[in-house]
Amino acid sequence: MNTQSPLALVVEDEPQIRRFVCSALRDESCRASEAGSVAQGLDLAARERPDLVVLDLGLPDRDGVDFIRELRVWSAVPVLVLSARTDESDKIAALDAGADDYLTKPFGIGELRARVRAMLRRSQMQSDAGAGALHAFGDVEVDLVRRNIRRAGVEVHLTPLEYNLLVQLLINPGRVLTHHFLMDKIWGPANREKDHYLRVYVGRLRQKLEADPARPRHILTETGVGYRFQLQPTGR
Ligand code: CA
Repeated sequence: MNTQSPLALVVEDEPQIRRFVCSALRDESCRASEAGSVAQGLDLAARERPDLVVLDLGLPDRDGVDFIRELRVWSAVPVLVLSARTDESDKIAALDAGADDYLTKPFGIGELRARVRAMLRRSQMQSDAGAGALHAFGDVEVDLVRRNIRRAGVEVHLTPLEYNLLVQLLINPGRVLTHHFLMDKIWGPANREKDHYLRVYVGRLRQKLEADPARPRHILTETGVGYRFQLQPTGR
């Protein structure tokens, strides 16, 4: 096996799901490492430095959210969370703790493989270039150093809050950003519960930057969870 192929760590206690996930990863040319508990997963993550983690939230020894909190102290590796529908609040807690994306069980192999590809692309981009100051999506160009935004070559004026929101979206492409995360970053923890602000400002950004604000292709809603910035629109 090619040692240059990306390594994924699968932390899941149900052998059947673990096998299913590992086989999807191999289809994406990943090597897979397997753990059945939080303790074993953290141990393997520290020793093997995987390029991607696929994490079940319901694990026998501890909560999957604890895994993410401990991992995030020393690693920025992308984490894809697998959650049952009954774990809705756990899923949001996992995203708040630093998970990048989630799949709700039961999920199909095509969906899993698409998420894995997107996460590997992102981790590749991060290691290649860092976040970078120049961003382009649709007909919009953003220069974060000069704080300049152009749409089809024409300068777009954003208020400071709109700009801060756009920056959070741009520096976290493809990642699910929870209401909580965005409120903390832009309005501060004291205003965390006022997430109607967020809806208003997302609406304004879409008006200014999306070709069809009613059917956004880049600033996407994750219903009940938050938002996701998509650099390249997909059929999703
Ligand atoms: Ca489980």
